[in-house]
Amino acid sequence: MPPELPAPAASAPVDRRYLLERVDDAAVVQLYADGFRDLALRERILIWHLSQAAIAGRDIFYDQRYAHNLDMRDVLEAMVSHARDIDPATRAEIERYSKLFWINTGPYNNLTARKFVLACTPDAFAAAAQAAARGGARFPLGDGETLDALLDRLRPMFFDSEFDPTVTAKTPPRGHDILTASANNLYVGVTMKDLEGVEERYALNSRVVKGDGGIVEEVYRVGGKYSRYIEAIIEHLDAAIANATEPMANALRALIAFYRSGEDADREAYDIAWVRDKASPVDTINGFVEVYLDARSIKGAWEALVFYVNAEKTHQIRTLAEHAQWFEDHMPWDPKYRKEGVHGVTARAIDVVIETGESGPITPVGINLPNDQGIRERYGSKSVSLSNVTEAFERSTLPEFRTEFSWTPEEAARAMKWSAFASELTTNMHEVIGHGSGKVDQQLNGNPQAALKEHFSAIEESRADLVALYFVADRRLVELGLVDREAHDDIVRAEYEAYARNALVQLRRVRQGTHIEEDHMRNRQMIVRWLMRHTRAIEVRVREGKTYFVMEDAAAFREGVGRLLAEVQRIKGEGDYAAARALVETYGVHFDPALRDEVVARVDRLRLPSYTAFVMPRLEAIRNGDGEIVDVTISYPLDLTSQMLEYSAATSHLRP
Ligand SMILES: [Zn+2]
Repeated sequence: MPPELPAPAASAPVDRRYLLERVDDAAVVQLYADGFRDLALRERILIWHLSQAAIAGRDIFYDQRYAHNLDMRDVLEAMVSHARDIDPATRAEIERYSKLFWINTGPYNNLTARKFVLACTPDAFAAAAQAAARGGARFPLGDGETLDALLDRLRPMFFDSEFDPTVTAKTPPRGHDILTASANNLYVGVTMKDLEGVEERYALNSRVVKGDGGIVEEVYRVGGKYSRYIEAIIEHLDAAIANATEPMANALRALIAFYRSGEDADREAYDIAWVRDKASPVDTINGFVEVYLDARSIKGAWEALVFYVNAEKTHQIRTLAEHAQWFEDHMPWDPKYRKEGVHGVTARAIDVVIETGESGPITPVGINLPNDQGIRERYGSKSVSLSNVTEAFERSTLPEFRTEFSWTPEEAARAMKWSAFASELTTNMHEVIGHGSGKVDQQLNGNPQAALKEHFSAIEESRADLVALYFVADRRLVELGLVDREAHDDIVRAEYEAYARNALVQLRRVRQGTHIEEDHMRNRQMIVRWLMRHTRAIEVRVREGKTYFVMEDAAAFREGVGRLLAEVQRIKGEGDYAAARALVETYGVHFDPALRDEVVARVDRLRLPSYTAFVMPRLEAIRNGDGEIVDVTISYPLDLTSQMLEYSAATSHLRP
């Protein structure tokens, strides 16, 4: 997931547009895939089919995130694309809200998990809908439903922030549990108590519904839930196979088999085939993968990415991977959790061509899969660093972002000089030697998620961050040629300073409420707060009414990181839920709202965004008279709205 200050670009043109627009506190940035043109035709065609598969499944994630999402999106898109006769003020508000809706895949902020609503009146909204209808817009009316009745039905979803207020609530309000307080569509009418003693056969790829007959798993597979989308995905994956390398073709066949059966054994076979494909220049992730959307950290949210290897930038990440065993042997934790014979983490720098579902328009900067701990231990994992995403982040970042929260000009200068380099390095370390490392006690059956439940993701993310923070200061990096000897101390200091600052600056992202929901944010808050409490590394200082988190002592910082890492690994290794909960809730969840208000005022004065959404490149297939693809071209739309409308139109025929 994105660090605050990602790394620089090597050789992109300087004059093109990255930052396209601001929508509230989101930045919209164009993503470029410069290497696409240099790929062989066979690879471009392969990418085209995989991209079609990525678009085909996009609506699955909309539906998983909120049961009313697709109806809401239809209403908004009908109005946005027939806006000519809508009152200008209402139209501007509908466009603002629609963009936030697309960026966040529904009405919930991706960072805070809280709902955002339309700021016009329901009457103005209804008048706008009527104007759009007169202009030819078509709305998702139910059987015999009028437009007014449809708008009435969706009124609480669009206008009432207290109706279904939180998409994923790991800290539920009184009277709720983590499922009943979460508005996502992964469970219907199910409480945590209902699930006691229930053994889910399709844990990752099902929705759990409580009906008259008790608890039912609706399996995501052909013939099951989302069947039409899944069949469309399969069709495109199948078309891709002809142009894939043999190891990749094997992985695609295994993925298709899993999409057909939904059985866990087929998912394992796919994970293994995917990990075994270590060398293909093109790759994809397509399926039910990450578990952040589920408060229980069990159900996979659908996502797709299509990417090719960026050979130039793969060197650093590959060097880390080749020496993964050395890092494993020097982990500052109980030797019984050290893995022996670390299976090659296959690590590469990549450029993404498209990301949908949970990975787009908001994207991670690094990914390490599969998540199945058992498969990681037996077969290793693949780790990718999203170079062109990192580049676009960097190119769209304003310099004030670094200076405003630095205590001294020297700190700001260090950030200017090194933070991009340091954050790319630590992102790679996070993925390659962080997530890839360590083992857990036998009795957990390779599944610490089940034991750590809603705190698993925050614990695992902090473990990976701590590994990176610990080893970034190790001389081994100099020996491996990854870091310049003279600059090493400065780079470490810049990274530690940036990490401390981030715990303050990230509060801008939680504009409502007084606690943090998002797991990566929890882990970063937790690490810094823990270090403040247990070491002398970081001081809180105030000057002219402005608060600063000042990293004072890099040696103390690293020593504290090592101590905390040993404890976090123990928690994961033993599945110690009580300790995970105490750690996350004490240091990672709560914050002082007055401090947040101060930070928000400072970033708003400078117009700094809280998060970034990306417009993907656009591919076009050129066909000959027989309908065969003879070329695939790439272009850059520079416009979020047109891309979102195009994606939605591509799947409208698949809707139930
Ligand atoms: Zn991570």
